[in-house]
Order: sequence, then C-alpha cells, then structure tokens
Amino acid sequence: MERALTYYGNPVLRQKGDTVETFDSDLKTLIRDMFETMYAEEGIGLAAQQIGIAQQICVVDVRPPKESEIHFNYSYDGKSTPLDLFMPLAIINPQVSLTDTNESLYQEGCLSFPNILGDVSRAKSISCQFQDTDGNSHTIEADGLLARCILHEIDHLNGILFIDTMEKKDLQKNLTRIKQLKRSHKS
Ligand SMILES: [Zn+2]
Repeated sequence: MERALTYYGNPVLRQKGDTVETFDSDLKTLIRDMFETMYAEEGIGLAAQQIGIAQQICVVDVRPPKESEIHFNYSYDGKSTPLDLFMPLAIINPQVSLTDTNESLYQEGCLSFPNILGDVSRAKSISCQFQDTDGNSHTIEADGLLARCILHEIDHLNGILFIDTMEKKDLQKNLTRIKQLKRSHKS
C-alpha cells in the first residue's frame, strides 16, 4: 500500500530513527509499502521518516534502465552480485563508514522537498553494514550514485536533510520555496 509522504516542516523529518529490534511480518509490510511509495513517487530512495515513521529503515533502488548503464562500482557481501538480485534494497540499522573521504559534488533532489534541486558534496565511496528484513547482516561497498543515495537516506535516519549540506548558492536559490514548504507543513 502506498503511504502518504511527509514534507519539510513536518517535525518527524528531524527525528533520529529508533533502532529496529523486531524483524516480524509488520516490518515486512512496512518495507513493502516503502517500496511501493518510492516507485509511485518515482524516487530512488526513501527513508521511514518520509512516511512519518522515525525508525532506522530506508529503501533504495538505483538500477538504471539497462545493465550497460551502471556507472558505479559496488560489491554486496564482497561479491559483484547483479543489482537485480538485491534491489530494491531495504537497509535496516545501517552503520556507514567512508572509504574515500574525498568528496564529489552532484545535484540531488528529495521526495520531501518537491521541485527543489541542489548540489550536495558527499564522500566518494562508502562501506555500509546493515540488516535485512530477517535481521541478517550484510555489507555493501559502493561509490557513485549508489554511495550518494545511501548517504542521503542514512542522513534522513539521523534527522539530517539535504538542505543542511547543500551548496550555499543553491540553498539561496531555493530559499523562498523551502520557507513556503516549511510553513505549509508545520501543523
Ligand atoms: Zn531525501
């Protein structure tokens, strides 16, 4: 079932997510709903806070239309598993470390900020440990779009939003729209 998105101004977006302790059928339903919502909204990632739930859960799907169009490196549990075998991916209780602290600048959007785009500088590559819907541990190593997407979503799980790290000039450009959004979603 598709769930309603939360927009900037809703205090849940500033809440740090609680650790998931119970890996039951409710969790699986929630994650299925998050996948459906992400696809319906045409996003490549979604954090639980974006549907009003402050928990350490996010989903990502950065598969390009064709296999030949994958422009990032990754490994899943140390192997070059095809993306189709583990995406859409649910990331629960993630712990991320930066494996290349050099940063790259790239334009991002966010489903909680409709029509707002801006450049965000992020580490080039990461290693992320997380649990799946059964509570099993996995590690994903990634650079490029996959690293960026995971970092954006993990920020959400800690109440951090892309406007916090957006390049000043882009923030300035979007300021009026951001303020309007905040006003209309405060209550
Ligand atoms: Zn976002």
